[in-house]
Parts: sequence; structure tokens; C-alpha cells
Amino acid sequence: MSQKCEFKNNNEDIIIVNVVYLSSEVLPFAKSGGLADISSVIPKNLNKLGVNIIVIMPFYTIVKECNCPIEKTDITYRVIIGDEVKTCCVYRSFLPGTDVPVYLLHNEQYFGRNGLYNYPGTMRNYEDNCERFVFFSKTAIELIPRLKLHPDIIHCNDWQTGLVPVYLKTLYKNNEYLKKTRMVMTIHNLAYQGLFSPDCMKYAGLDWNLFHWNYLEFYGMLNFLKAGIVFSDIITTVSETYAEEIQTPEYGEGLDGVLRTRAKDIYGILNGIDYSLWNPENDAFIAANYTEENLTGKQVCKKALQRKLELPEKDVSVIAMITRLTDQKGLDLVMKIFKNLLKFDIQFVLLGTGEIVYQDFFKHYAKIVPEKVSSNISFNEPLAHQIEAGADIFLMPSRYEPCGLNQLYSLKYGTVPIVRHTGGLADTIFDIRHEKIHKEKANGFSFKEYNADLLYATIIRAFDFYKNRSEWTKLMRNGMKQNWPWEKSAKKYISLYESITKN
Ligand code: ADP
Repeated sequence: MSQKCEFKNNNEDIIIVNVVYLSSEVLPFAKSGGLADISSVIPKNLNKLGVNIIVIMPFYTIVKECNCPIEKTDITYRVIIGDEVKTCCVYRSFLPGTDVPVYLLHNEQYFGRNGLYNYPGTMRNYEDNCERFVFFSKTAIELIPRLKLHPDIIHCNDWQTGLVPVYLKTLYKNNEYLKKTRMVMTIHNLAYQGLFSPDCMKYAGLDWNLFHWNYLEFYGMLNFLKAGIVFSDIITTVSETYAEEIQTPEYGEGLDGVLRTRAKDIYGILNGIDYSLWNPENDAFIAANYTEENLTGKQVCKKALQRKLELPEKDVSVIAMITRLTDQKGLDLVMKIFKNLLKFDIQFVLLGTGEIVYQDFFKHYAKIVPEKVSSNISFNEPLAHQIEAGADIFLMPSRYEPCGLNQLYSLKYGTVPIVRHTGGLADTIFDIRHEKIHKEKANGFSFKEYNADLLYATIIRAFDFYKNRSEWTKLMRNGMKQNWPWEKSAKKYISLYESITKN
């Protein structure tokens, strides 16, 4: 069983904690998925609550496109990667609207390219990802003494930072600046583990004794995430349900056994939403602003979306998906029912990037039924907002979903979610039909078993419900009233930080 964390209610209780937050993507500098949103908003909210925090991330070429003021510092140093010496130049910016510094670590060979992990527009990983993130991990640690920081906590995120806890407990265990530092590892998605051939040990520069199934080895491969799980003091993940699920063979991605050995140190803390970015009341990307009391703007947004995507401006239900096109997201179920779905008078809008098989599927339908299907294969932040505002129904039939952000954005935008009851979707979407759910709490539709017929039946149930517009509007309003503020999650992180720094 994973642990529940208590959190304190007022700032006076909070001891000042010094935190170094490591992430391979941070909004607005670089984003491939929800990790970027979270890595921006957690530090921002921790800082608001009095935590001293800095963020460290790689300086990819694409960072230059964010139009953020970035300055070169005078910090430059070298680290050994394999048999070679590599140089790291440190740049600095701030999380917008805050004084939280973001240190960007630059090395042209490793990060002088636009993709974060893959060749842009493909699912093909860069061949040197092992070296790239060994470099990031080592240079991030090396920056700390150069900034003269004595962090209480280094907070790592996902496999890209998985070796950091290992370094802290081995190569850097006697470092003056890091002696008292505790490690938190957050798993945003257990399916991505950073698996590399044993040759990568040479780049990692770690003792071969660690290449053992008790530590870094995983079926003959070097596993960065496993390293993080084994060597961190605390492991968190992004919803309470996912924290339980990952300790089972069904959801454990081969690491459930390792996770069970750490069960007493695993905590689920649900992500929140940055309502300064995602709120129809003041969203600058959408055609008209609206509130829960006055929904007229939503109709304007729906028409604007239809116009923009060249769909007929009709009063039919618009179903949307904004997603990475991967197996995780339940797209095989959608493919199975798609033909039948299109027999209804509806419109379907997709925004996504990812696997070709899914791209081709939706492109094909957009070509043969253009009056019903709009397929947008790109990463487009403004369009994501416009779809959230203009759609009626948001589909997330995920095979697994650590937390999920889009169902929460959808709630705020009055776009009713249909989800599979798993991970963070189970913790946030409450089916109208569930008798134990108060009518005011109900905010969407869900189904449990991973099955196309069940998805189809749930969509039909939603279509039936949609016919009664006043009931539908109540459901929309329920969702719009519910909030998942980051402050609540940030307080839980603080409470965890305190619990491990006190020991
Ligand atoms: P995951 O992290 O698994 O991709 P989440 O729901 O947690 O899923 O977060 C996805 C984030 O990425 C959301 O902010 C979503 O709006 C955004 N997103 C995903 N695909 C696209 C896209 N093609 N264009 C714009 N935003 C996207």
C-alpha cells in the first residue's frame, strides 16, 4: 500500500526547505507532454508557499523559441562522460511571473537540436539519449556547489533524472554541499524507463557492481528509472490510484516488484491545474471568454472552432481528443468503434502527434468524411485551448493514465469528459450514473474494463444524456465549479519534504 501524506494548512507551519528541482522539460521553455506543465507549476507554487527553489533543465535549441529572456552566466565547467571531457555552459532564466530561477545547461553536441528525446515529428529516439541524460544528471549535480547551495531536497522527475539519486549516494556522498540532501523521485509515467544497453555504464561512470538486478540492471539492460526508484528516499507519483496500480503486475511495467519493496515510501499526489493558463474566463487563445454562470461564450467558441477547422457550423455534439498518439491513450479502442460513431450526427476533432498508424487512421477519416472529422497532426498549444473551449465532450479512454491533465482542463472549460476509470482519471472523474456519487459531484462518464464495446456504450450513454440540454448544462457546471488547485498539491509535497529532512 502506498502512503497518504498529511499536509499542513497554514504557511506558518512550513519550515523553509531548499529544493533543487530537476526536469527534462519545463513550460514555457520546452514541452513534449504533461511533465512540462507540472515542472513549471509545482516550483511556482512551492515558491509561493515559501520554499526556496531552483529549477534545472537542458538547454535544447527549441528553448530559444519561447521568447523568454535568457542570460548567459559566467559558469562553465567540464564533466567526464565515458572517455571524453564535455563542457557545460550555464544559462539562466526565470519561470514567467516569478523569481524562481531556471538554469539551462548547454552543450551543443547533446542539446543543440530541436527534439527533446526523439527526432522531431517521429517516434525514433535519439541514439545518444543515454549519454545526453547522463550529461544532464552529472552537470545538474555539479552546478549545485557552483551556486553554493546546500539543498535539503533534490526533486527528480522521470527516467531522465533517474541516475541523480545514484550519484548522490555514491560518487557525491561526501560532497560538502550535498551531504544532507535527500532525494525525491516523481514518476510521471512508469512506461518510460530509460532502458539502455550495458555499454551505457561506461558513460554513467558508475561502479559495475551496481549493474545488478538489485540496483540498476533490468533484464540485461541499464534502467534509469529503476535506479531512481531504488536510490531515492521517497517516491511519488501523480495520483493516489496510480500509486496503487504501479505496484501490481498489470500496471507495473515489470517494475512492480521493485516498487513493492519500496511500498512504504511511495506517495500519490494528484497534479493540479494552472488556472492562470487554463481558465475560460480569461483565456486569450479562445474566441470568447465565458464562465460557469454565463456560458454564451462557449457557443461562440464552438462556432469559431468549427469555422477554423472547416467543419459545418451545426449544433451537433463535438467530441474531442488532444493527445499523444500512443497505445497508452486507448486509441485502439477508438479505432474499433470509429465507423459506428460516425453514424451519429456528430463531429470529431483530433489534435495529436505520435505513432504513424494512428496519424494515418485519423487523416484517412478526415479525408473521406471531412464534414465530420477534423484531424490535426501537430503540436499546437493555442489550438488545444480552442478545442477545450469549443468541444462538448472530451474523450480519454486511456489504457492507463498516471494523472492526466486534459480531463481537468476539460472540466474547467465545461467540456464533459468520457474516461476510462484508471489512475488519475479514476480519482477525478465521477460518473453521473454512479449511485454513490452526489449529483453535484458528478462531472462526466466513465467505464472500467478496457474494452471497445464498453467505450461505445458509454459514449451512447453520453449522447442520450446530451439530448436533455438542461441536465447536460448542470453536468458541465458541476465540472466547472470543481477545482484542482496546485496549492493543495504543493502543500502535500512540502509536508513530504519536511518528513524526510527532519530525519
Ligand atoms: P501526457 O503527459 O501523458 O501526454 P497529460 O494529459 O498529462 O498527458 O498532458 C498532456 C499535455 O500535453 C496537456 O497539456 C495537453 O494539452 C498537451 N498536449 C498533448 N498533445 C498536444 C498537442 N498535439 N498539441 C498541444 N498540446 C498537446
